[in-house]
This record gives sequence, C-alpha cells and structure tokens, in this order.
Amino acid sequence: MSSSRRHKHELVSLSEGGRYKCSGCKEKGRNARFTCTKCKNVMIHQQCAQLPDVYENSIHAEGQLKFRPETFFTHNCIACRKEIEGFVFESPSRNLRFHPLCITLPLNFNFGGHINHALQLFKAGEEKYSCNFCNQSNRGWRYACQQCPYTLDLSCAKLDLQGLLHSPLKDEDVIEHGDGNDGDSTKIAIEVIKIVADLAGGGSS
Ligand SMILES: [Zn+2]
Ligand SMILES: [Zn+2]
Ligand SMILES: [Zn+2]
Ligand SMILES: [Zn+2]
Ligand SMILES: [Zn+2]
Repeated sequence: MSSSRRHKHELVSLSEGGRYKCSGCKEKGRNARFTCTKCKNVMIHQQCAQLPDVYENSIHAEGQLKFRPETFFTHNCIACRKEIEGFVFESPSRNLRFHPLCITLPLNFNFGGHINHALQLFKAGEEKYSCNFCNQSNRGWRYACQQCPYTLDLSCAKLDLQGLLHSPLKDEDVIEHGDGNDGDSTKIAIEVIKIVADLAGGGSS
C-alpha cells in the first residue's frame, strides 16, 4: 500500500498486467502501475502518482512549472506537440505546458530501435521533421542521434520507455519476465460424496 499525492485513496503497486491508460495523464502504460483499493478502474503510472506540486528549474524548463489536474481548454504540450488530456505542468504565464511524461524525459536515451548510438534530447522548434521509427512527421522536441541522421519523436520515445514498443531489446525483457506462465494449471479438487445406502444393512433395527 502506498499513499499518493495525486489520488485520494490508498494505492497498490502492481508490476504486471498488460496495457492501460493512465487515469491521471491519460497516456498509455504497460505493466508497472498503481491501482486504487477503493475505486474501480483507476490505474496510474507510478511516476504520475507521485508528481510534485511544482517543478523548479527542471532539466527541461527554467522557472516554475505548476501541477494542475487538467486544463480547461485544449492545449498542446510544448515538447511533443500532442494534446494534453489530463495531468499537466504549466508555467506561471501559461505559455508553456507539458505532459508529466514529457517533463521527465531523460536528456540521453538508449532507444531499443537504434541500439548502437545513444540519442540526445533536442529542444527544437517549428521546423518539421519525420520520426525514423514511425515515419510520422511532427514539430517540436525530438531525440536526435549525434553520430548519424536518426531522429525519434517523443511519442515513440514515451511508448518505448513505457515498454510499449516491440523493439528487439524490449522483447527480451518480456521473455525474462515470463508474462505469467507460472506452470502449474489449477488443480480441480473433486469432492467425492459418499452416499451411504441404508439398503446395505447399516441401519438401526
Ligand atoms: Zn500517467
Ligand atoms: Zn480511489
Ligand atoms: Zn508532451
Ligand atoms: Zn515516432
Ligand atoms: Zn545513430
């Protein structure tokens, strides 16, 4: 059991359990999560359950970024440029907003789909690029290889960090964890009910 800053009830940590959508940030996750002991269908990324009220000069943005449970209007994340549907970190002037998973992205990233070189976070702006993993074009921040022209968008990076991309490295992880094949099938206990037949002469005379 664990108490959370971001949910009113006690939470339980689960290490497995397939894919889910985080009840806090509304982004995808897989395996590790918190679930609520009281609410049905509450599943929260472990990092989303412990988000601070304020990030002060994070590695991604100077100044303060304040936590809010949601935004009232549609806003896009300054980093990945995708819509923010749940938990958000916002600058005081409200011109910068981040997904929780984007504000905590590492500066250096070993991507399973580009295993020979480390990728670096590049806080780029408006020029378009296309992701070498999913081939979608995007703007905004990206991961770029320092040794070859390989670019990865933050959406793919976040999926990989959550264990949701089927890169060779991650598949090995899945095999190690065994995916719940614990062997023994459930034994079905069969109760044998003996019917005592009075006919055979056991009765009182
Ligand atoms: Zn989340
Ligand atoms: Zn709850
Ligand atoms: Zn984002
Ligand atoms: Zn991509
Ligand atoms: Zn490279």
